[in-house]
This record gives sequence, structure tokens and C-alpha cells, in this order.
Amino acid sequence: MKRNQNTLIQPVSYQGNGLHSGLPVSMTLCPAHAGSGICFRRTDLPGTAPIPAAAEYVTNTLRATTLENGPAKVFTVEHILSALYAMQIDNCLIEMNAAEPPVADGGALTFTQMIRRAGILAQDKPARTLLLPHEFSVYEGPKFIVALPYPCLRITYTSINSHPMLGTQVLDITITPESYEKEIAGARTIGFTWELEALKKLGLGKGGTVENAVVYSKTGCLSKLHWPDELVRHKILDILGDISLVGPVNAHIIAVLSSHKLNAELASKLLDFRRKEEL
Ligand SMILES: [Zn+2]
Repeated sequence: MKRNQNTLIQPVSYQGNGLHSGLPVSMTLCPAHAGSGICFRRTDLPGTAPIPAAAEYVTNTLRATTLENGPAKVFTVEHILSALYAMQIDNCLIEMNAAEPPVADGGALTFTQMIRRAGILAQDKPARTLLLPHEFSVYEGPKFIVALPYPCLRITYTSINSHPMLGTQVLDITITPESYEKEIAGARTIGFTWELEALKKLGLGKGGTVENAVVYSKTGCLSKLHWPDELVRHKILDILGDISLVGPVNAHIIAVLSSHKLNAELASKLLDFRRKEEL
């Protein structure tokens, strides 16, 4: 499935507050030239260079993906990156007047709606989709993530959680802009009341609410679920954000209990392979 690179037809803006900082931010997605990729620009730090959404600029993935270029930094960028990636937007300049994008709906639905509002423009250069000659895998105890050769992008995720309302959830989905908008984008981050208290003590999670996150207590759920298996859908949203740094790839990704850390390790293996291919 060959396709050309895509950008947006026109800029589109959204104002909100960051998930961790709670700070107000205005974010504008702008069209960008073919071959320029996804870049962030801090409009509140004039004169600073754009920050490419590329592996070399990732400085921290502990709680949220952070990208840095000199004095300019952005963090919690994984959901906007997931939306642009799944919607096949290859070139976009993301302008923000603060370090953290708006949490918006807590998933990527607001961002896919922004992309639809802006319109998608096919550009005159082909997108280079990575094809795998063999499997790539990362294992850590019972957790793993594997990428197998496959003719398009498909993800199968298994989540196993001891919470009585979560249990085992499995979802197998072929990722297209349409399937992502319908089945994945609306899935929010899961949090537990005790984790949120700990985060707030660290000065994080200030923008989190029971609307933009699915919050569970020991025995119940304080949020209204969008799907009974919203957890596994959000895990797939996060994988797409993490592998977006590799660029377009055809693979069947099979993951069991994988986290940002394992996803990032798989992305770096795929990226090493892509670089050798392109030499
Ligand atoms: Zn997430």
C-alpha cells in the first residue's frame, strides 16, 4: 500500500490545559513541507529552534515522552503524536505557547477532529513505509512486544490487570485513519485514585479529571467508560505514539503488558534497522 506524504490544508488551533502541569496552552497544527516531518515550536520562547519529533531528541520517557532541543522542551507529546501518526500526517509544525499540549479529551479524539477540520493534503513525495524482513522483539519477564512482517499496520494487545473491573482485555485491530478515529482515539488514560494522589504530591497530574482520565478506586470506577475495554484501546493509542518516531511501518505488532519503556525499545530497534536500510 504505497501512499504519498500528507500534511494539513490549513492551520487549526485548540486551547486547553496540560495534563501534568495544568497550565493553559494554545496549540496550533500548521501545514509543513514534504520531507520536514513532525516538529514542535515553542512560540513563547522566540528564537529557539524547532524540536523534531525524532528519537535523538527524546530525553525522558518515564511518565510522559519528553523532547528537547537546546533550551526548548515539550513533554506529554505522545497522544498528539499518536493522532498525527495514525491519521497519516507526515509533515506538521506544532506551535505551542507552553511546554505541554492540552490534555483535551484525555485520548486523541480532539486531535483527530482538529486534523479533519484542517483537512488532509497529499503532497508530491512518496511516504517511505518501512517493511520488515524478520521479527523484532523486546522481552522483559512476562511482558513483551514483537513486530512481525505484515502487509499493513495491525496491533494485537493483551492487558492483564488484577483490578476486579479490568481483568484480561484483548484487542486486535488493523490501523487505518478510519479505524483509529472510531475505535482508538476516544480511549483515555487509566489512573487509580492512589496513583493520582501520589502524582499530585509530586506536582504532576494537575490537569487530570474524572472526565479526561478513567479513574478507578480499589473497588469501582469514578468515570463513565467510553468502552468496557477502554484500557486496552488506550494502550494501542500509546503504542502508536511511541512507534511514530520510527515513521510509517508495515508490521503486525503483538504486545502483552508492554509499557512506554518496552515500546520505546522496540521503536529504537526498528529505527536502527530503518537507518541501515537507508544508508
Ligand atoms: Zn497515553
